[in-house]
Amino acid sequence: MNQDKRLYPTSFNPLFIRTSRPLPKEVAILGAGTIGPDIGYYLKSALPQIKLLLVDVVDAPLKKAEKRLAEYTHKAMEKRKIKENQAKAILENIVYTMDYGLIKDCDLVIEAATENIPLKQRIFSRVEELVGPDTIITSNTSSIPADRIFSKMKNPRRATITHFFAPAWRSLPVEVITWPGASQETVEYLFWFFAQTGKVPLITDNAICFMLDRIFDNWCNEAAYLLQDATASQIDKVAEEMVFAGPFYVLNMANGNPIIIETNTLQMEEGPHYKPASILASVEKWVTQRPGSKVEVPKDAMAIIRDRLLGILFSQSFDIIDRGIGTKEDLNYGCQIALGFRKGPFDIMNELGEAEVSRIMEKFQNERPGFPMPKASLATYQDFKRFLLVDDVDGVKVITLRRPQAMNAISDDINNEILSVLKENTDKPEVKGFVITGYGTRAFSAGADIGKFPQTLGNFGAAEQYAKDCAEVQLFMDRMQKPVVAVINGMALGGGFEIALRCHGMVATKNAFFQFPEITLGILPGIGGCVVPYRKWPQGAKLFHEMICLARPINAKEALEIGMVSKLVDDIPDLIKAAVEEVKNLQGKIQRIPDGKVEIPEFAIPDPPVAGKQALSKEAVSITVKTIKAGAAASSFSEALGIGYRGSAEIACTEAAKEGITAFLEKRRPEFKK
Ligand code: NAD
Repeated sequence: MNQDKRLYPTSFNPLFIRTSRPLPKEVAILGAGTIGPDIGYYLKSALPQIKLLLVDVVDAPLKKAEKRLAEYTHKAMEKRKIKENQAKAILENIVYTMDYGLIKDCDLVIEAATENIPLKQRIFSRVEELVGPDTIITSNTSSIPADRIFSKMKNPRRATITHFFAPAWRSLPVEVITWPGASQETVEYLFWFFAQTGKVPLITDNAICFMLDRIFDNWCNEAAYLLQDATASQIDKVAEEMVFAGPFYVLNMANGNPIIIETNTLQMEEGPHYKPASILASVEKWVTQRPGSKVEVPKDAMAIIRDRLLGILFSQSFDIIDRGIGTKEDLNYGCQIALGFRKGPFDIMNELGEAEVSRIMEKFQNERPGFPMPKASLATYQDFKRFLLVDDVDGVKVITLRRPQAMNAISDDINNEILSVLKENTDKPEVKGFVITGYGTRAFSAGADIGKFPQTLGNFGAAEQYAKDCAEVQLFMDRMQKPVVAVINGMALGGGFEIALRCHGMVATKNAFFQFPEITLGILPGIGGCVVPYRKWPQGAKLFHEMICLARPINAKEALEIGMVSKLVDDIPDLIKAAVEEVKNLQGKIQRIPDGKVEIPEFAIPDPPVAGKQALSKEAVSITVKTIKAGAAASSFSEALGIGYRGSAEIACTEAAKEGITAFLEKRRPEFKK
């Protein structure tokens, strides 16, 4: 495991931080230009009750900001993401002002003014005179190291950089910069605060441009140099293999040319090779095509562009890791969620293989001398988990599924990573056991990706095999001598719930809930979901019938009543503590899932079967009921599991499953015929 303790001395999961400082009540954002109002919209959406002050030195941006926030809420209502009363609460209690004096009671001040060192220094001197001694002060600078901006402050210990990405109201990551002048408490509070309000904070070192902008700025700058060989739309087209939108298209959207000049000039302190391309200063808008448009690129030009773009991407990635600016996990993930890369840089390297990466880097070094090259073997940059954070708490490995953009949905890759953490540690004497939880405040896991399931539709053998393949983590847990406890920090649905079910213990937050939505897609939970709950908690059988056959959700209290969950706690650090205690209680006392027949009560399925407003497929429900009954009647647990896999395969061969999966992929409600 390579996550860097220097950047994350307390924990990798931000919500494990115990902070004595509450959420802010009053926040000021200084600068109402491009990004300031977007940061404001994120804050008011996450914490509608706060008072927000948007401060600028010019009136026009404030007026525009007010209009923009009204438009955002309007759009969100149109898309049914928020209700009218929520929109009202977001827009209420926002002060658009040029009067700095109004910020005096703020607990948090975020500066998002023009990128200029003397200006920012002046702002912070002024802010310090106005606010109380405990106010946390941050800058959203894209590139300037913290010591330079905060150097004139009397008390920089409460100050650091919090770097957002456009569009800041939606983009998940925020880089929180750690630097010697700030207290650990300040950095950790912000780390916790952003996760608590729905963001993905990434702690990075105090290098020029921090972590992700070193990738973005140099990627764009390299693209500008490539204009000697091709047009902007040709370069964008080649880049689209790696990113959802090419560099010139993005620069146009963000009016980004001046910022690349500024940030790359700053990076020239590290060497002349970072020099911004002169063409960036003379062009205002690039001639580009919408992503996905057809653009002809001659083969030789394509090879030149591709190699150079990959060269700069890899060079910067190696450098970031070699200098400890960020962790491999954060860099690989951040490039995808902040910069729109289809895959992380280390995933691209992995796919290309060592020989091809070496070829690209040698060529890049010849064409662009001075840029950093890898300082370790290529294999060492691959040695990390893409989707998991792993913390050590009191001898227990605490695994966090970090995929909040998909509510921590389980994929085949996540399954493999969980399995490898369990396998890597299960025989280590110093490891007492494991805890599994989900990133953020909303979900343990919202289910499983549809994965290869559509390819198995109509093919009994393939569907049965796929169900078995997906069950490896569960089967491994069944045999483990060390306990695994699930911490349910929100929703636990479908395939995610099927992992929690197989853990040896479960604790949850009071707002947690559990559901098997599979039947609404004409399928059933095939990784043990139809058989495990009845064997582990036979007293909950009636509820399980409704859950599996009618997609009824159950809340944390109901889960506690049937004994599925052993403890409800709302405070996440306390919950982790409870889970770690549970791991210790379960030492040598893991209860194996029982063999033998299980008595289950009769089913009362309404005719026609419905889940809320969704009409269900009678055929799918009847296969599900049959599977549950046969699973309960099986004389061994392993026979019951086999029945579950075959039930999943049988249902995969129905019209209902075909319609359900097609509707899911087409984002519409399914219409079942029988
Ligand atoms: P911008 O030029 O669009 O807006 C800056 C605003 O700051 C202007 O409205 C200006 O009037 C105001 N301003 C100037 N002096 C001020 C002062 N003393 N007090 C209050 N307001 C003042 O710039 P932007 O793109 O919004 O960027 C703001 C900061 O955020 C910069 O440091 C930038 O590097 C950083 N940043 C921007 C983005 C982005 O996508 N735009 C992304 C990450 C970081």
